[in-house]
Amino acid sequence: MVSQRARDTAPFLAMEVLERASGREDVVHLEVGEPAFEPPEPVIEAAVDSLRSGDTDYTAARGKPALRQAIARRYDRRYGVDVDPERIFVTPGSSPALLLSMASLVDPGETVVLSDPHYASYPAFVSAVDGEVRTVPHAAEDGFQPDLAAYERAIDADTAAVVVNSPANPTGATVEGKTLASLASTAEAAGATLVSDEIYHGLSYDATEHTALEYTDDAFVLDGFSKRYGMTGWRLGWAVVPPTYVEAMNRLAQHTVICAPSFVQDAGIAALETPPERLAEIRDTYRERRDLLLEAVADWGLDAGYTPDGAYYLLVDVSGLPGDSLDVAELFLEEAAVAVTPGVDFGEGASDYLRLSYAAGTEEIREGIRRIDDLLAEFDV
Ligand code: PMP
Repeated sequence: MVSQRARDTAPFLAMEVLERASGREDVVHLEVGEPAFEPPEPVIEAAVDSLRSGDTDYTAARGKPALRQAIARRYDRRYGVDVDPERIFVTPGSSPALLLSMASLVDPGETVVLSDPHYASYPAFVSAVDGEVRTVPHAAEDGFQPDLAAYERAIDADTAAVVVNSPANPTGATVEGKTLASLASTAEAAGATLVSDEIYHGLSYDATEHTALEYTDDAFVLDGFSKRYGMTGWRLGWAVVPPTYVEAMNRLAQHTVICAPSFVQDAGIAALETPPERLAEIRDTYRERRDLLLEAVADWGLDAGYTPDGAYYLLVDVSGLPGDSLDVAELFLEEAAVAVTPGVDFGEGASDYLRLSYAAGTEEIREGIRRIDDLLAEFDV
C-alpha cells in the first residue's frame, strides 16, 4: 500500500508542467530553472578524461578530497571564510544534501521554519523526516524580504531548523548579510540550526551575496553546480555542516547516496576553476534577460511591485486575470504554448502569482513575451 507520506506529498508542479510540455515542440519553456548555458568546455573534458581513464568506482561517501579542498578554497576566495574540508560533503546534486541535512537535524514532530513563498521541494524534505512545516510570510511590498520580528515569533523550543534561501527561488530576493546574521543568531538562541540554501550564489544582479558561514559555523550551507555552471543533469552539489554533525551526516550519506558519481566529481573540480570573467559574463546575460522580462511584465500590467535581484525567477501577479494561477498557467500553455509554473507550487503566499524563469535563452524569452502579448491583448488587465 502506498504510504500516507507518499500520498500526502504534493507533486512538483514545475516538473509536471515540464513533463506535459515536453512532448510538444512548439512550447516556450519558462517553467523550469534549466540554464540555457552549457558547462564550460574544460568541465566536459575533465569528465571525459576521467571516464576514459576508468575513474568510475565508488568514492568516499563525503566525496573526493581534491574536490572538497577545491570547494573549501572557493569559500576562502569568494567570502574570506576558512572552512575545514572535513565539514564538506559532496552529494549527487544539492537535493540529497538537503534531505541528508534534514535527516541529521530533525526529530519526528519537530518544526522546520520556511519562508512563504519557498522552494517547492522544501516541504517534501521536511515531511520525509516526519518534521512539521511552519511558514513565515514574505510580502511582495517588502520585496519578499524576511520580517525578522515574524521569524522571532515563529522560532521556538520545538524548532529544529530554519531554512533561508538567498537568492531565492521563486522570488529572486537576496537577503542582506546582517539579516542572515540575525536569522542565524535567532535560530541559535532557540537551540535551532540555520539551513542556508546558497545554490543561486553567483547569480545576483544588484545585491552582494553573503554566505551564512561568514556569521556562524553552526549552520548547514548547501550549494551546487546545477545553476552557476549549467550542470543540472550532472547531479553534483555539496553541504557544509557544523563540526558536531560531520559523523552523523557521513553515516547517513554512506547508506543512502553512497557517493556522487566519481567522474562528475572530477568535472566539478574543473568547474570551480572557471575564470571569474566567464561567470560574470553569464551573470550579465541573465541580468539582461531579467530586465527584458520585467519590462514585458510591467507592459502586461502584471507587475508584482518588486525587482528580483538574484536567481533567475520572477513572480508575476495574475490575480487580475480570470481563474486562479493554475487556470492562468493552463491558459498560457494551451492558448499561447508558453509553459510557466503556477505560484501555488511555492506555498499559499505565491498562489496569486505565476513564476517565470529566465534561465531560458534570450530568443526563447522574446518569443514567449510575443506570445503572451498576443494572448493578453484579449484581456483587459
Ligand atoms: N534549492 C533550490 C532553491 C533550487 O531551486 C533547486 C533546484 N531547482 C535545488 C535546491 C536543487 O538543485 P540540485 O539538486 O540540482 O542541486
